[in-house]
Amino acid sequence: MFKTIFTSPIYSVSEDGSGVARLDGYTVFVKGAVIGDECKIEITKRNKTYGFGKLLEIVTPSSSRIEPVCPQFKDCGGCTLLHTDYDTQLKIKRETVYNALTRIGGFENIFVHETTPSVPNFNYRNKSQYPVGGSSDNVKIGFYAPRSHNVINSNSCAIENPDARLILNAFRLWMKKYHIAPYNEEKHTGTIRHIYSRAGESIMVVIVSRTREIDQLDKLKDMLLNLGLSKPIGGIVVNINSQKTNTILGKYDYTLYGEKFIYAQIDNITYKVNYKSFFQVNPYTTNLLYKKALELCSLTGKETVFDLYCGIGTISLFLAQNAKKVIGVEIVPEAIEDARENARLNNIENVEFYCGAAETVCPPLIKAGEKADVVVVDPPRKGCDEALLNAIGKMKPDKIVYVSCNVATLARDAKILHEKYGYEMKEAFPFDQFPHSTHIECVALLTQPICVEVI
Ligand code: SAH
Repeated sequence: MFKTIFTSPIYSVSEDGSGVARLDGYTVFVKGAVIGDECKIEITKRNKTYGFGKLLEIVTPSSSRIEPVCPQFKDCGGCTLLHTDYDTQLKIKRETVYNALTRIGGFENIFVHETTPSVPNFNYRNKSQYPVGGSSDNVKIGFYAPRSHNVINSNSCAIENPDARLILNAFRLWMKKYHIAPYNEEKHTGTIRHIYSRAGESIMVVIVSRTREIDQLDKLKDMLLNLGLSKPIGGIVVNINSQKTNTILGKYDYTLYGEKFIYAQIDNITYKVNYKSFFQVNPYTTNLLYKKALELCSLTGKETVFDLYCGIGTISLFLAQNAKKVIGVEIVPEAIEDARENARLNNIENVEFYCGAAETVCPPLIKAGEKADVVVVDPPRKGCDEALLNAIGKMKPDKIVYVSCNVATLARDAKILHEKYGYEMKEAFPFDQFPHSTHIECVALLTQPICVEVI
């Protein structure tokens, strides 16, 4: 077979953390390469416009290259930038946002601010989710090997919080001692599928099981309650997922101890968070992210604001303190229940919440006469539905504040709002919610051009 071996600098970083090399203008993605490295590369797969290469040798290491702190860095695929120093990670993220907004979005005059760092950038996650596999004699709890569903034991993790590790270890011990069968995905047998924990003011533990009945649950409960975690356990829940599916959580659950939710504090607001609801995973930057969204809304107290994809009302309640009225829309019923409860909990009365898809709920709401001065959207990675963008565009809010976890869909959606409805985007603010991974959170402001009437 014809082998191509070449030497190239690494110019940039792809979405999965691979280095980007070039051979006569042809792009080659190289796993393990760091931006600024000079590498010897062998092309292993060729597509028409790009290929994949194996890193044969680092000829000159980049000044940004560091030793990854995690021994399982290569197997896990979670922290794909762990071999790159943190300052460079922040620069890469800023550049990625700029490239997406200029190339996909077509916004030539955009100013992308420096990425707001996470302090600290290790052990920052308030939520950990581990798949369980292997066999009764050899239980494995950790993560899936890249592009597979083989569970690899996790020995440590640089971004989880220390309590999550104690919980994981307790499960290992319990399963081993009492011969509790892990779930076998191929045969659809066994019991324990996932372990999930989330920390706020207290800690929530969720056992995702194929079966409703689990042996020796009381023993597990005792172990968990006596772990000496840094915060009390607020709830232990068994979630039953009896389906052959990649979705982690099932529909039914029951409580083994305490509640199905925890409380979490962001700035001056207390949130009740159901274990099924979305909640930002990095408590150190979330506060800053929401404050930036609020600042960009520049509210005076007279405005009606839509908070679309509102989750448990996190951003809505921030906004409500400075607006006349906030209307939140969210698709998950449990999250909307939490949102309503959260408004009561914080004595915030100028909010209304609607459950349903934003693209279905908003058009009739607008038709019925609701008019937002400012719209905040915070969609999942796939971005906003075009029907929603059209409904917003036609309503003509003065400002749209877009909170995004995927710059490609942010750029796509902003382009639609620009081309069809004249919105301008001048500034974007990346936040490092996910240090050491390539994921980027970003807030961008879209404004209506000021119309000057010519007489
Ligand atoms: N703004 C919230 C949640 C953002 S995550 C926060 O910062 O905490 C995105 C949210 O959008 C999730 O809660 C998800 O359940 C919800 N969602 C997904 N698709 C939706 C849709 N079509 N309409 C409304 N909400 C949706």
